[in-house]
Amino acid sequence: MIDSLFSSATRAAHLGALPGETADLLVIGGGITGAGIARDAAMRGLRTVLVDAGDFGWGTSSRSSRLIHGGLRYLEHGWLRLVFEANRERRILLRTAPHLVRPRAFVFPAHEGSRVTRFQISAAVWLYDLLALFRNVHRHRFLGRNGVLKLEPLLRDRGLRGGALYWDAQTDDARLVLATIRSAHRHGARCVSYARVVTLEKADGRVRGALIEDAVSGERLTVHAHAVVNATGPWSDSLRLLDEPGAAPLLRPTKGAHIAVPQHRLGNAGAVTLLSPIDGRVMFVLPWGDVTIVGTTDTDETVAPDDVAPSEQDVIYLIRSANAVFPNARLGMEDVIAAWAGLRPLLKGGGEKPGSVPREHRIVESASGLVTIAGGKLTTYRVMAAQTVDTVARRLHALDGRRVPSRAATDREPLPGGEVADLEALVAELVTEGTPEAAARHLVASYGTEASAVANLMAREEMLAAPLIAGGPWLAAEVVHQARREMAMTVADVMIRRTHIFHRRADQGMGAAPEVARLLAAELGWDADKETASLRCYAEEVERMRSAFTRGAPG
Ligand SMILES: Cc1cc2nc3c(=O)[nH]c(=O)nc-3n(C[C@H](O)[C@H](O)[C@H](O)COP(=O)(O)OP(=O)(O)OC[C@H]3O[C@@H](n4cnc5c(N)ncnc54)[C@H](O)[C@@H]3O)c2cc1C
Repeated sequence: MIDSLFSSATRAAHLGALPGETADLLVIGGGITGAGIARDAAMRGLRTVLVDAGDFGWGTSSRSSRLIHGGLRYLEHGWLRLVFEANRERRILLRTAPHLVRPRAFVFPAHEGSRVTRFQISAAVWLYDLLALFRNVHRHRFLGRNGVLKLEPLLRDRGLRGGALYWDAQTDDARLVLATIRSAHRHGARCVSYARVVTLEKADGRVRGALIEDAVSGERLTVHAHAVVNATGPWSDSLRLLDEPGAAPLLRPTKGAHIAVPQHRLGNAGAVTLLSPIDGRVMFVLPWGDVTIVGTTDTDETVAPDDVAPSEQDVIYLIRSANAVFPNARLGMEDVIAAWAGLRPLLKGGGEKPGSVPREHRIVESASGLVTIAGGKLTTYRVMAAQTVDTVARRLHALDGRRVPSRAATDREPLPGGEVADLEALVAELVTEGTPEAAARHLVASYGTEASAVANLMAREEMLAAPLIAGGPWLAAEVVHQARREMAMTVADVMIRRTHIFHRRADQGMGAAPEVARLLAAELGWDADKETASLRCYAEEVERMRSAFTRGAPG
């Protein structure tokens, strides 16, 4: 195993070493799917390289509903196997990443005249727990009308018949990807962000690696590998075209958008599963610090994955759906703190409506040996990874007769930061050592056992104990930690995916961004031009997000 440093210097060292080596496996794509595959392969002892065109988790994996869930709504479609598998994965992730995957209770109210009756909700939550072998965090409870209102007093009471309380888990999707990538790194994988595959390298009709372009230096270099996996999520079909021009698409991508509004404006007490009164779709109201996330939409999308963005219609749909269930909120566009959208890399075939397209995954090998993993969910990434590496192991065996261990203990080994389940004990330890309690809670929730590394930075340098934003939980030391141990390469990497300031502040933390840039510049050795450029890129990203909808338009 390698030490826990994972910085721009690590990245540079990997890039320097790559042309002189032949890896067993090259994984293209550093979303949750690629991250899981790299971790699994490295744990089985394969020499593994992973490259991503952007930051790790930059694609769909940082734009999900952040649920590690069996998928209650999938019961409607009879996808029992998927629910069973996902429920099992939820159990495993709660154990291996307790700081990043937290139990969350959901209230599912039943209103008169809505598409799903109180009886159906009750039957669904019972079946849901059955498919978890009654080993869900807690058992469901059926609720009468008063029981629902006790838990969610501001919910629409007109026509309320009752409902149910059931359990799932909430995660930080982008940090889950990072933790998985870092675990792969600790097991020896070379993981490199901002390195796009430009072409695939072939010899004798076989894929033998790829030409990649380093977005930082602009240089191109070849990665040699015995096996290559395409784990590029919604980009999978365009990558397959590099291998087989004219290959028929595997995917039917659908867009999902979310909005964040101040929690006190919507007035939800916890998480709520709701049926949109506009079209009856299942949606969620999800607590996230001091904001509430409302999502998601589900619409067919043809725009390229690089350009997917929430539209004004998406935002209006989400606001209206939330207002119908929390009528006193009267949310308007001006309440929206942030909006974002991602593409679900769903498999073609199945249902007519986007919501009824199966969430299964498929592993496909091309004539030249490119292994593509398509479809799936954040929740089931570990299983998808194990099956993909099984396929790679068979390929390697066919190539040179070697035997690869059949399965790795990915279900038992904690992800970095997840080594201790008792988070309260971690908080208490930090407080004893002098970290203020609020800071200790914030750090443990983000970094688990690694919170002490951030606290040490704060103790050593007073300036690093300062908040990035007055009244906010984020600390200057986190930026330094993220540069040294989480390969933060840009201001956006910190603001969007490592701290989520982007999703939680109405100004997207623009006031704090120069300080973030200054701290990164000191860590990454940027000159003034690079610092300004990184700051400008973040400002452009913020502008792009804001221009997708107009604040102030009527909701
Ligand atoms: C709105 C929404 C909500 C969702 N909610 C949930 C949920 O709550 N729970 C759940 O379990 N699942 C959820 N999902 C599904 C889940 O998020 C996705 O299935 C999963 O994140 C896909 O991960 P991925 O790694 O396959 O793709 P991505 O995360 O998109 O990763 C693909 C990566 O490939 C890289 N790439 C592309 N081309 C190249 C190239 N040429 N060279 C190098 N790299 C390249 C990209 O930069 C990208 O980082 C949701 C999806 C959406 C859209």
